[in-house]
This record gives sequence, structure tokens and C-alpha cells, in this order.
Amino acid sequence: MGGSALDAEALSAALLAMEEEFISDAAAALAAAVELEQQATALGDDGLVMRARLCRARMGVRIGEITEVARVIYDVQQWAAEHGERRLEARAYAAGATIHQYSGDAAKMLEHSVSAVELLDETATVFMQVWHRARLGDALAETGAMDAARLRYRQAEEIARKTQQWELLGILFNNWASYEHECGDLVRAREVIGRMIANADAHGLALDPPTLHTVGEVQTANGEYAAAEQTMLTCITRYEAGFVEHVGDLAYYQLTLAQARRGLGDLVRAQESLDACRELGAELGLHALLVQVHKEQADLHAARGDNAAAFAELKVFFAAREGLRSREREAQAQARQAMFETTEAREQAERFREQARRDPLTGLHNRRYADEELLTLITQDPELTLAIADIDHFKRINDQLSHDTGDQVLIQVAHLLNIGLTAAVPHGFVARLGGEEFLLALPATPLTTATTILDDIRQAIGGHDWHDITGGLPVTVSIGAATADETSPPNQTATLAAADRNLYAAKRDGRNRVIAGTQSENPV
Ligand code: GH3
Ligand code: MG
Ligand code: MG
Repeated sequence: MGGSALDAEALSAALLAMEEEFISDAAAALAAAVELEQQATALGDDGLVMRARLCRARMGVRIGEITEVARVIYDVQQWAAEHGERRLEARAYAAGATIHQYSGDAAKMLEHSVSAVELLDETATVFMQVWHRARLGDALAETGAMDAARLRYRQAEEIARKTQQWELLGILFNNWASYEHECGDLVRAREVIGRMIANADAHGLALDPPTLHTVGEVQTANGEYAAAEQTMLTCITRYEAGFVEHVGDLAYYQLTLAQARRGLGDLVRAQESLDACRELGAELGLHALLVQVHKEQADLHAARGDNAAAFAELKVFFAAREGLRSREREAQAQARQAMFETTEAREQAERFREQARRDPLTGLHNRRYADEELLTLITQDPELTLAIADIDHFKRINDQLSHDTGDQVLIQVAHLLNIGLTAAVPHGFVARLGGEEFLLALPATPLTTATTILDDIRQAIGGHDWHDITGGLPVTVSIGAATADETSPPNQTATLAAADRNLYAAKRDGRNRVIAGTQSENPV
């Protein structure tokens, strides 16, 4: 990067390279991603910031910061969903799948991989079309659904061939072969490896260490120990020449080399490789690998004929495997907790926001909500009609009965206003402005139609059986209405003032009525 500032287009291109090129040095890429994110922030381009953030998170996963980045990936996914950025959302799901894979949660990995494919549309790049399907294959393989996995791998392979994504095809084959090996289908594993090598030869691609490792593993499993040893030596040489895929890969290569050498009967050098593997694994805290080291050590003791040592080591192996499983469960729980806390915080903020816009007595929206809604409604909808309803002689109810009865009346009037309005105008709303005064908003409703609707509501309130609440004392409302286009330009304060004048006129003319329009502009 060199610190030089990039414009939005150049920044986008730099991000695309990180999104779709094969990065072997994740730590260096992480530093670059941090810098790209800073530049995107300086440009004030949220979309680019989010893309950079996802790149940073993906590199973080590669260097083992699973829990830290789980939240970042979730946030990017949410942002992308809210902003209709399907491509970014799909990439975020793909990254989420990797997180779950590393924390050993195959079901969640599958869920995310499915979303990463479902979100592919015409805005998705060819890289994504291939890669997200290949990863869905991986996820299916992780859950043990090998047939379904093969189907996805074949689809991805077909698209990769059509779009000439040879390097990507190589990675796809590597994963595929690796899962065939893992599920014990050596025939298929060899067959996929054959196609992988043919692809590399045809397109001048060097087999990278992870790919060579898969080849070495399959050869070992197949009893081709001499070939496996050669493959693993090449693999390690290439790795040491500067290839860094994941931290600790070398330890895994040493393990496979040890297995090949044990197969060859070269127990001394097998032990050397295993020791190198154990040392690296301990240094880097690779618990899953160290479990396998115990198993290989037991096999090595057995190969030497030292059954007592083999048996003792096997017991260590079983204990370590159990320890690993609880560690994995712990890691899963932590990743879930991180996701959960984020969702919780978001929902709580949403609840507070909603509460601040509701009237606690009636459950209706309040004045703050009405003000916010009207701000945009009034400029966008010339046929918006606003009305103010006020209960007639409400003081009498409070005085002759009780304040509590007054509250019950308010609740019931609020309910009748609300069902009456939303039945006639589904996108309309009622808000309690304060006291026994309510605002009714009727979007896209010309004044004549609105007047009919409002009068029906008025009659429904007057005709309601109030006996249970007031013991016979009638409850009626007066309503004043006005339409936004009566004021020009449409203006909330002026429209509400016109509605209020009409309400005043309704009270003056005897209450329990609706007055709309401009006839009361010069009240007596
Ligand atoms: P009008 O027909 O002219 O509207 O007569 P009114 O009696 O309704 O007149 P006014 O607006 O002066 O009276 C409103 C009363 O509503 C006064 C106040 O005590 C009462 N009030 C305001 N908020 C509440 C409430 O939350 N609960 C109860 N029970 N009463 C309330
Ligand atoms: Mg009043
Ligand atoms: Mg009143």
C-alpha cells in the first residue's frame, strides 16, 4: 500500500484483489486490510468500509482470531442485509461459514454456506459463483452428506471450467479430494487428485503445499509410502521457500511425513518428523494436531514392538481427544455467545427506540412518533389528511366518575380510533398527542373520503356500549380534519393548525361531529 491514498475506484479494486485472489500470507494481508479500511473511512464510503472490514475479519480468521472477528462478520452481514448489498452479504455468510468450520460447528457452517449460495445473483462475480458452491460442498462434507457435497462440487467444477477459473478449480479439487480421503473413499480421492494434477499440468499451475499435502495423505492411506514421502518432502520444501497458508500447516505436513516414513519402516526418521511436528504444535497451541500426535506416537511404539509404551500412549490419546472435544464445545459456545450478545444489544436498542415512541397508557404511538412520521409523509403525499379527535366533556367523566374510569375511557377510545382507522386506511396511524387528544393520519386519502371514514369512526365511538365503563354516561368525540395540500408548500404545522381550527368549530357547533376543509378558516 505504501500509505498512498487511493480514490474510491482504486480502493474497490484493491479490495476485490483481496476478496478474490489467493493470499498465502494472511498476516501481511491483514495489515493491508486494516490500511484499506482506514482509507475507506477517510473517504466516508460506508460500502467500502464494510468490504474492508470483512477482508480484515477473514484474514483474522486465518491467523486464528476466531472469537474476535465473529462479531465483525456478523455486523457486516447485518449492514449488507439492511442496505440491500447482496454481494457483500453473500461474502459475509461465506466468511461466517469458515468461522463455524474452525470452531467445529458443522451445522452452522452449513447454514451459512447455504445462505452464501442463495444470495448469489447477477451481481455476484464468477469467483463467487464457483467458490460459494465449492464451500457449500465442503460444508455438506463436514456434516457427512458426501453425496450432496459431490453434487455441489460438480456444479462448481462445471462453472469453473466454463469461466476458466483454473486456480480456483485447483483449490476446489483439493478440498474435494481431502474430504473423500476423510470419509474413507480412497478410490474417489485418487480420482479427484488425478483431475487436480491434470488441471495443474494443463494450466501451468504449481501444486502448492496444501495441495501436495492432500496428495501425500491419500498416498499414505493407500500404502504408497515411498511416493508419499517424496510428495511430503516437496511439500515441505515449497512451504519453507516462503509459502504461508495457515499458521501451523508445517506441523501437519510433518505428521503426514512421519506416517509415510513409519509405513516405509524408517522408524528413526519417522520419530524425527513426529518430534518436529509435536514441537511446532506445542509452540502454536494446535490442540487438534497434538491429539493426532499421540495417536501417531502410539502407532510408532507399536511398530517398534513396544506394546506397553503403545498402550500407555493410547490412553493419553483418548484423554487428549476428550479434552479437545470439550475445548471445541467451549469455542463453539463462545462464538455463539458473541453472536448472541450482538443480536441482543440490537434488539434491546430497537425496543428502547420503540418504547420512546409509544404512549404507555393506550399503547398507541405518541407525539414524538407522529412528529417523526409526518416530517416525511407531509412532503411526499399531497393527499395526506390529518385529523385531531378530542373527547367531548371529558372533564365530566373524570369528575363524576373517577380518574381511573377516565383512563379506561381513554384506552377504549384509543382502541376504537385505531381499529376504525387501520381498517379503512391500512397505512394510516393514530397517535395520542396528550390528554384526551388524538392525531389520525390518513395517507393518500382525499378530504372527502377522509371525512366519511372519520365520521364512521365518530359514530362507532358514540355507538359503543359504554355501560361497563361509565355506567351509562355517553362518550363522544369531536374531530377536525384538513389535507396537506391546502397549505402550500405542504406543511405540518399549518395542516395541524387547520385541523385544530376545525376541531374548535366542531366543539362550538355542539360536539360529536366531524368538520373538515376550509370553512372554518375565519372562526367567529
Ligand atoms: P371538551 O368537550 O371541550 O373537550 O371538554 P373537556 O372536558 O374534554 O375539556 P378539556 O380538554 O379541558 O379537558 C381535558 C381533561 O382531560 C382535563 C384533564 O384532567 C383530563 N386528562 C388529561 N389527561 C388525562 C389522563 O391521562 N387520564 C385522565 N383520566 N384524565 C386526563
Ligand atoms: Mg382537550
Ligand atoms: Mg375534550
